[in-house]
Amino acid sequence: MTFMANLPPTAELQQKDAAHHLHPFTDTAELNAKGARVITRADGVYLHDSDGKKYLDGMAGLWCVNVGYGRNEIMEAAMRQMQQLPYYNTFFQTTHPPVIALSEKLTSLAPPHINHVFFAGSGSEANDTVFRMVRHYWATLGKPEKQVIIGRKNGYHGSTVAATSLGGMTAMHKQGGLPIPGVTHIDQPYWYGEGGDMDPDEFGLMRARQLEAEIDRIGEDKVAAFIAEPIQGAGGVVIPPESYWPEIQRICDERDILLVADEVICGFGRTGKWFGSDTYGIKPDLMTIAKGLSSGYLPIAGVLVSDRVAEGLAEGGEFYHGYTYSGHPVACAAALTNLEILEGEGIVEGVHDRAAPYLAEKWSQLGDHPLIGEARSKGLVAALELTPDKAARAPFAAAKGTAGLICREHCFNSGLVMRHVGDTMIISPPLVISNSEIDELVTKAEQALDLALAELKARDLLK
Ligand SMILES: *Cc1c(COP(=O)(O)O)cnc(C)c1O
Repeated sequence: MTFMANLPPTAELQQKDAAHHLHPFTDTAELNAKGARVITRADGVYLHDSDGKKYLDGMAGLWCVNVGYGRNEIMEAAMRQMQQLPYYNTFFQTTHPPVIALSEKLTSLAPPHINHVFFAGSGSEANDTVFRMVRHYWATLGKPEKQVIIGRKNGYHGSTVAATSLGGMTAMHKQGGLPIPGVTHIDQPYWYGEGGDMDPDEFGLMRARQLEAEIDRIGEDKVAAFIAEPIQGAGGVVIPPESYWPEIQRICDERDILLVADEVICGFGRTGKWFGSDTYGIKPDLMTIAKGLSSGYLPIAGVLVSDRVAEGLAEGGEFYHGYTYSGHPVACAAALTNLEILEGEGIVEGVHDRAAPYLAEKWSQLGDHPLIGEARSKGLVAALELTPDKAARAPFAAAKGTAGLICREHCFNSGLVMRHVGDTMIISPPLVISNSEIDELVTKAEQALDLALAELKARDLLK
C-alpha cells in the first residue's frame, strides 16, 4: 500500500502522538516517556507495527474483531452504502434499508422473546440507553419508584457517567465522584480470588444470593434491574461457577426485577453460542451489544429489547432518548455483513465445536507452569492467574499489576498481544483463529511466562 510506504519514521509518529493525542485509559506522562506502539496494518489474526514487527492479536483488538482483520466483504458493503446513503437519521419517523435489515437479522439471532433493537454508537452509550430505558419502563407501568439498578463490583459496562456507575471499578468511581445515586453493587462470582476453601458451586450460589439480599434491603418496589456480563471481561475474565446464573435468573423472576445481560463481549460467538445468555441458559429482558456486532470495523452498538419491555415502552408515548448515530446506515451495512460472515462461515459453531475445545486443552496445560495458579477458559475467552505460590492461590507481595505488566511486556516482545488485568493475564482472540495459530499463541504465552518468571526471580518479586 502506498500509504504504508509514505509513513514517516516511528519516532516522528510517536513524537506527534505524544504532542497531540490523549489516549483512553492511559497514564499520559508514562506513555509519552516511552512512546506508543504504532500499529499500521492487520490481516487475519495478525497485527503489524511501524517497525515491521508482527504480533498475534490475542485480544482481537479490544475483544471485538471476531471475524478477523482484512475482510473485504465488510469494506465493500460500507463503501456501497456510503455511495448510496452515507447518513440519515431515524428520529423523525424515517428509516432506511440497512437499519431495517440489521434489526431483522439481529432479532432473528437473539432468543425468541427478543424482537426489537434500539441502536447506539458504543457499548457505553448502549448502557446509558439501558439505564434510561429500565427506569422509563417501570414509570410507564405506573411504578416510577422502581429506580435502583444493581450492578456488580469489578463489573465493566463502559466509561460514560451512567456506564461507569453501573460498572463496579473502584478506580474509575474515585475519579469524579461516581457512582451516581440510584446504583448499588454486589460482589462478583470470582472463585479463584475470593472463594477461599469453598466449593466453586457453593460459592457461586452464595454470591448470587447477595442479589436477593440486596433487593430485600432496598425493597423490591424500588429496584428496577440487575445488570451483569455473562462472563466479566475487563474485570479479568471472571467465568462464573455453573450454579451462578440459574440462581440469578430465579431471583430476578421471583422479585420482578429486569435482568440485563451486558453481551458486549460475550455476544456474537465469543462463548461458542451467539450470546453468552445462550451459553448460560438465561432469559434477559435486555441485552447490550457492541464490539463483535461489527467486528469493530465501524462503531455500532445497541440494546436488544424483549417483548415484555417493548410492549411496556409502547404504552408510554414518546421516549425522549436517541443518538444522532442511532442506526447509522454505513455502520449497519458493515454490521449486517459481519453477521452474514459469522453465520455463512459457521464461525460460531466453529468456536463451539473446534476452537474452544482445542484452546481449552492447550490452555489448561499452561496451568502446570510454576507461575500459574489457575488457567481457565470458556469459548474463546481465557485467563491465567499469576501467583508466587500455586497451592495457596496467593497474590504477590508487590503492588497488584506489577507481575502482570512484566508478563505483558514479555508477551509483546515475543510477538503476542495478551493483556493483563492486575496479575491476571487474559486473551480473547479473533473467532477465526486456526488450531495452528492457537498452538502459536500458547507457545508464545509459555515463552513469555518463562521470561516473566526469570525476571520476577531476578528482581526478588517472586513472593
Ligand atoms: C467494552 C465494553 C463496554 C463499553 O463499550 P464501548 O464501546 O467501549 O463504550 C460495555 N460493556 C462491556 C461488557 C464491555 O466489554
